Amino acid sequence: MSRPTSACIDLDALRRNLLRIRELAPRSRVMAVVKADGYGHGLERVAHALEGADAFGVAAISDAERLRAAGIAKRIVLLSGFVEPGDLPLLQRLRLDTVVHHESQLAMLEAASLLPDQGRIQAWLKLNTGMNRLGFPADAAGAAHARLRALPIVGDEICLMTHLARSDEFDSAFTLEQCARFELATAALDGPRSLANSAAVLGWPQTHADWVRPGGALFGLSVVAGRPASEFGLEAVMTLGTRVIAVNSVEPGAAVGYGGGFVADRPMRIAITAIGYGDGYPRLAPSGSPVVVRGVRTRTVGRVSMDLLAIDVTALPEVQVGDRVELWGKQLPVEEVAAAAGTISYELTCGITRRVRFMER
Ligand SMILES: *Cc1c(COP(=O)(O)O)cnc(C)c1O
Repeated sequence: MSRPTSACIDLDALRRNLLRIRELAPRSRVMAVVKADGYGHGLERVAHALEGADAFGVAAISDAERLRAAGIAKRIVLLSGFVEPGDLPLLQRLRLDTVVHHESQLAMLEAASLLPDQGRIQAWLKLNTGMNRLGFPADAAGAAHARLRALPIVGDEICLMTHLARSDEFDSAFTLEQCARFELATAALDGPRSLANSAAVLGWPQTHADWVRPGGALFGLSVVAGRPASEFGLEAVMTLGTRVIAVNSVEPGAAVGYGGGFVADRPMRIAITAIGYGDGYPRLAPSGSPVVVRGVRTRTVGRVSMDLLAIDVTALPEVQVGDRVELWGKQLPVEEVAAAAGTISYELTCGITRRVRFMER
């Protein structure tokens, strides 16, 4: 038998999540954010399933190239923008929209010798309203907008955007402050507006504006601490699974795995499963992390190895070699595993390695 480790991607759930987002933001267009290989779900398959989106957002030009090569004709926005003059002909050829967030990019556009009749580049002018990562200072918005307007190579409709730093805190006033700064900075400028990431789609309707930019919510990831995506009508898209490849009994006092950190305090049955950090299961998940076998929840024991993970099946005498194990997905929200490992769900889905077989349903 080949390695039974797989990530099953539920494309119908993905499409239903997009519909749910449209329900939550009925007056906005949806840019489906599919950066980092579609949050680890597989860029091309995700993009084909999301034909109903109005645009795609990616971070890397290479991802945009993959989408075009896969026949995706829709608008694609380069969320981190271009980084060197040599990127510009590629943007033009691939018909990409780009975020413009920095003075250096304006200078590159002004120095470029591209011909507008080969296609104009659509710009999304990004303003910094409090994230302090990418974006022009709010008081530089007018000048940057005017410089973009003056460039024949830049398309007429300049979108205005900002990114929210704390939209996942539904009781924080910071999002409202960012909104107010954005409104003030853009009051005299025309063009569609975009502020909302997933958490803002769910919790801040006043940020929805012309374009929402959900990523995690599309994939059914929880984007608000302590509130599973299901609470908002969103479904898990990825289920990471494997099978039991051995079941062993251990005596009290026996240690399981590298380092001997887990010691049985009674006679135990331990199932060994074919998953490890070599597949993207987090090595930092400690003993006691949740896992589901045969539909029943139990816990991991001992250190996560590269290829193997031990789980406690003492209370599940029916468990045998070949049984299905779910690491996260439909039966076990990935957030629970992420919390145990001291990270967030996004890092886990993005971290699945090439050894894992992807399947669609
Ligand atoms: C990643 C990203 C998003 C999507 O974020 P989620 O929290 O996953 O919805 C939206 N906008 C920008 C600029 C991003 O970089």
